[in-house]
Order: sequence, then C-alpha cells, then structure tokens
Amino acid sequence: MLCYQPSRDLICPYCYDDLPVVDWQSCQHNLMLLPKVQRSLPGVSFPRLLSPLYYQPPVNRLIKGLKYSARLSHGRALAHIFCDLAQQHLIDPPDALIPVPLHWTRWLTRRFNQSTELASQIGKQLRIPVDQRCISRERRSAPQVGHGGEARRRRMHNVFRLEQAPAVNHVAIVDDVVTTGSTLQAIYRLLHRAYPSLRIDCWAMAITPPPNQGASWRERR
Ligand SMILES: [Zn+2]
Repeated sequence: MLCYQPSRDLICPYCYDDLPVVDWQSCQHNLMLLPKVQRSLPGVSFPRLLSPLYYQPPVNRLIKGLKYSARLSHGRALAHIFCDLAQQHLIDPPDALIPVPLHWTRWLTRRFNQSTELASQIGKQLRIPVDQRCISRERRSAPQVGHGGEARRRRMHNVFRLEQAPAVNHVAIVDDVVTTGSTLQAIYRLLHRAYPSLRIDCWAMAITPPPNQGASWRERR
C-alpha cells in the first residue's frame, strides 16, 4: 500500500519498520506523561492519551486517504498498526469505544466518518463494542486548518452534546489525529462533568509533533 514491494500484508515489513512510531515504553503507554507532549497540548486536561504514531509521512497519507477519499484499506491498515502496538501494551482496555462524531450535514456531503470507521476496525480486532449513541455533534465547526490552539478550543465550545449515558465504567474516545487536543478535550470535558467516576481514555492513530521539534522528535521503538 505504501510502496511497490509485493507483500501479503497491507503494509510491507520494510515500510512497517520505517513507520514514525511513538516510544510508548518511555511513558508507560500514556503520552500525557511526556513533558513535550504536555507542552504541545496546552489547555488539555484529559489524563490518558494513547497514540502509536506521529503524524508524519507516510502516516499522514494513510489518514488523509481514509478521511477524504474513504479508502477503507487505509483504515484497516491504521487500525491494524494501532492494535498491533496496543495489544502488546494494553493492560487495562476500555469497555467501549466512543468515536468522535461528525455533524450530520458534513456526513451528508462526505458520507463517511473516519473516526467511526477506525473505532469499528479497532473494536473488531480488540473485541470492544463501539458506542455511537453517547455523543452527538450539535454544531458544525469550521475545518480546523491554520488556527491556534486557543482559537480552536473556543470554537469547540458546545460543539458536542451528551445523548445517552455510557453503559460501562471505562471508555476510550477515538479520533484520527491529535493536533491541539481540542476535539478530544471537548468530549472528555462533557463526559467527565456528567460522570465524574467514568474512566476516560483518549485514543488517536497519530499525534502531530510540535513544529520546533523537527526530525529530532522522530523516535524509534
Ligand atoms: Zn513497503
């Protein structure tokens, strides 16, 4: 999928080995314990973030293909990478996955929610049910390109609505990419305020490295 190497897998072993993988061991599989991640996500208060990849080539290509061209094979490959890395480390898995919802008007034009697709694929592989009824999207937010963290957080205010209590004690909110963390934060805050004892993890396929970190941020397993 990423090269011309013949391979039985979606991603050949050479490309797989070359993925910009986050060093999970150094942070006990919680990126919020890494100071540089905390610094790059100001205003975020969710306690646990799991993301196996940096949003760099070729991961950005996989995510864009899924999001804008509904390439389901990209979703399968990303979910496979997530589960492959998560299964080795996931000590305490959640009981339900909550995908970040799309506003219905956006769904009408795009007919596809990449977060739901990723949550379904991951849920299938890890045997965790997907809860699509818990959260809905009230307002349509402008595409999140080229806005600072503070502006994005303000625009995410009241975007989501709580529809139904989760039927479990431990959930993971699933998104494709963490850039400022504002989307995950908005859903986290909504759930945490309504259900203070609910355990809430945040899962994303990839996280954007801070711009000043450059190539040094690329870490190896
Ligand atoms: Zn390859």
